[in-house]
Amino acid sequence: MSVFDPHLIHPVSPHHFSYGGLDRNDSARSDLNFIRQLFKAPGTRFIIVWRTQNFFKCSELGLTAMQCLSYDESELFLEEALSIYLGKDRNDNDYICLDISKYSEDALGYLSKIGQFGDLRKADPSILGDEGSILAYAKAMCFWHSKSLFCNNCGSLTESSQGGHTRTCCNLDCGATHFPRTDAAVIMAVTFENKILLGRQSVWPEGMLSVLAGFVEPGETLEHAVAREVYEEAGIFVKNVQYQHSQPWPFPASLMVGFRAEAASTRLKVNTQEIEAAHWFSREQINQFDGLTNFLPRKLSISRRLIEEWLVEK
Ligand SMILES: [Zn+2]
Repeated sequence: MSVFDPHLIHPVSPHHFSYGGLDRNDSARSDLNFIRQLFKAPGTRFIIVWRTQNFFKCSELGLTAMQCLSYDESELFLEEALSIYLGKDRNDNDYICLDISKYSEDALGYLSKIGQFGDLRKADPSILGDEGSILAYAKAMCFWHSKSLFCNNCGSLTESSQGGHTRTCCNLDCGATHFPRTDAAVIMAVTFENKILLGRQSVWPEGMLSVLAGFVEPGETLEHAVAREVYEEAGIFVKNVQYQHSQPWPFPASLMVGFRAEAASTRLKVNTQEIEAAHWFSREQINQFDGLTNFLPRKLSISRRLIEEWLVEK
């Protein structure tokens, strides 16, 4: 069972990708016998990731549900797979992630009969939070492994250890242990009286508008990062920076930390080196977005949640 109820630890319901419904069972990760037995246990579910893509059930509606493999199905890919023990769900089903990126597309033929690979970011908002959370966790772990093949202490090869939750340097004189990394980023709904600040980056789909965001830099607090990013991108000073909630964002390795902040003024000075545009919008204006000329980010994202929380306030 899970070690906590994601619905009880914060007043806001959990985001897609942040249900945390698995007991990560860290005390068992390093037990090789435990992991070996899990591979052939009937209840074990295998989550596969291929070249950053997750595996979903086939559906005409899009990416609506995760597709697990049984041991018999996963056995086709075990020889070249990297395995990561993810943990167990509320019903005591254990989950093992298999990164099968070493296989060519031609070798994946069987899988096309039972599911489809896809970008988790494009999952349908109807996907269950528990499933989105497991897929995000698996994808993030696979990305970290793929970027950690060499020791950043001595340059030697590393190998997976602790059930896939660390990598250990193969050079016995070094032996450094490496842990998964997550890049903290702040994302903030900046308001002034009855308006909210929305901007857009040139790489986004045409017409999409969202709240500002940026990576936390070494030596600063999350609140400082909010104030710095808003000033750098829009020339606005903020006050009363308040934490709201957070969302893992494995595209490829971020944790989005959501805030509200009040602007000291509405006078914008947009840094076009960082963002394409930024403007103030009233609730009435946003409610009249036509979905083509202007639209908000997808419902899976914390950015959409931050905007919608503000929209329903009086
Ligand atoms: Zn090393």
